[in-house]
Amino acid sequence: MQVEKGKVVMIHFTLKDPDSGVIDTSEGRPPLPYLHGFNNLVAGVEEALEGLEAGATIQVVVPPEKGYGPRSPDSTAEVPRSAFPQDAHIFEGMQFMAEDDQGNQGPIWISEVRAEIVVIDRNHPLAGKDLHFDIEVVRVREATAEELAHGHPHGEGGHDHSHDESGHDNN
Ligand code: ZN
Repeated sequence: MQVEKGKVVMIHFTLKDPDSGVIDTSEGRPPLPYLHGFNNLVAGVEEALEGLEAGATIQVVVPPEKGYGPRSPDSTAEVPRSAFPQDAHIFEGMQFMAEDDQGNQGPIWISEVRAEIVVIDRNHPLAGKDLHFDIEVVRVREATAEELAHGHPHGEGGHDHSHDESGHDNN
């Protein structure tokens, strides 16, 4: 069975930055399931996997425009540490949702933590970077109607709605 829109694909992957080494990997964990064609993964990875079958291994370099986008300048700001709750655990790479000046909700990342100052950045930490992926296709299966309706895989390694009150989520 080939990787195509509407299939649940399980992959092992390692994401590397040529400068800093391994950024993320599924090594030592179960393979990552995703629903192909529903933007679960960055566009460049889904394009590279299209048409492959279980057992295939590929190396792909995804440019920013098919990864996490270009880095936009002037997207960082310094805020006082006291703007965060006293007991909040704040660390570099942490992501949270915040409103911008126009009132739009969007993700923000913490790029630096100093004694009194926290530097926040609206760019994804991998924006502007080439993403070097090693990927192995472990399994390809049909998605269920429910998975297609939700836009993500369920079951082993997928979304677990058993704790959701509504049975739906926005991930
Ligand atoms: Zn779901």
